[in-house]
Amino acid sequence: DLALYTAKAAGRGRCELGAGRVASDLVADLTAALDAGDITVHFQPIVDLLADAVVGVEALARWTHPERGPIRPDEFIAVAEQHGLMPRLGEQVFRSACSQLAELHATTGRRMRLGVNVSGRELSDPTYPQRIRTVLAETGWRAQETVLEVTESLVEAESSTAVAALHELRALGFGVAIDDFGTGYSSLSRLDTLPSAILKLDSSFIATVASSERRATMLRSIVGMAHVLGLDVVAEGVETAEQDALLRSIGCRFGQGYLYGRPAPLADVAPLFERRSEE
Ligand code: C2E
Ligand code: CA
Ligand code: CA
Ligand code: CA
Repeated sequence: DLALYTAKAAGRGRCELGAGRVASDLVADLTAALDAGDITVHFQPIVDLLADAVVGVEALARWTHPERGPIRPDEFIAVAEQHGLMPRLGEQVFRSACSQLAELHATTGRRMRLGVNVSGRELSDPTYPQRIRTVLAETGWRAQETVLEVTESLVEAESSTAVAALHELRALGFGVAIDDFGTGYSSLSRLDTLPSAILKLDSSFIATVASSERRATMLRSIVGMAHVLGLDVVAEGVETAEQDALLRSIGCRFGQGYLYGRPAPLADVAPLFERRSEE
């Protein structure tokens, strides 16, 4: 049942969801989950390779369907995008992440950067900057500790409103990261026009780097260029000690991936903050 369901969702075209019974069930179920507050958040550590310390986390939405079990974020985020549910979903994830980290700070004194994924749909809604400021006011979390992760293609597709919103948010102190860097078109030229200070190098890149001298050379060049431009680089999808060693030798400062920690509830991730920095 789950396999069939997943195969159908995975086999869809870009915009055809909603035609079949399975897809429309999912829309109704996701709406119900949002009404019930059933979308949860997992956190994945982001590691400073130089300091050997966890310096931040990325918030990742999770949804366990009552009958079908866990649904992959790629699937339910796409459904939310196509059926206008993204503003609610994004705001719930953001509120939950901010309040959990604010509470952790209140009880342990720990502060770290929070990365949240923002879709182009959300950004191009003119009320977005005000809505997320409201969440900060309600939770006590700060813009300065928040990094908005956006993909260059989404910003491109949604054009000027989204870019203007990013500039506005940047001025308020939010960090901006270009997510999945290396997968889109015109990547290098976007670096100049987006108000970003962080590049998140897509995991597909890292996956091939240890086995290909050419890829390693490309990685070295991208990291070098980013540093010249004053950008931080986070390598995503780091799974092996070999990849980790290569990143260190290249001078890539930050890493994220299963090697350092899988996405998990905050209670499971928080101990890593202590351990790595005390090791
Ligand atoms: P992303 O933003 O690129 O997030 C990183 C993804 O890589 C996550 O997948 C994470 O679990 C996975 N990952 C981390 N380390 C490794 C590794 O070492 N190896 C491998 N193979 N994978 C790793 P996840 O959680 O399934 O999320 C998929 C995508 O869904 C995210 O990709 C993001 O684009 C989207 N997403 C998730 N939560 C949200 C959200 O709250 N809002 C929005 N707009 N998008 C979200
Ligand atoms: Ca991301
Ligand atoms: Ca990414
Ligand atoms: Ca991605």
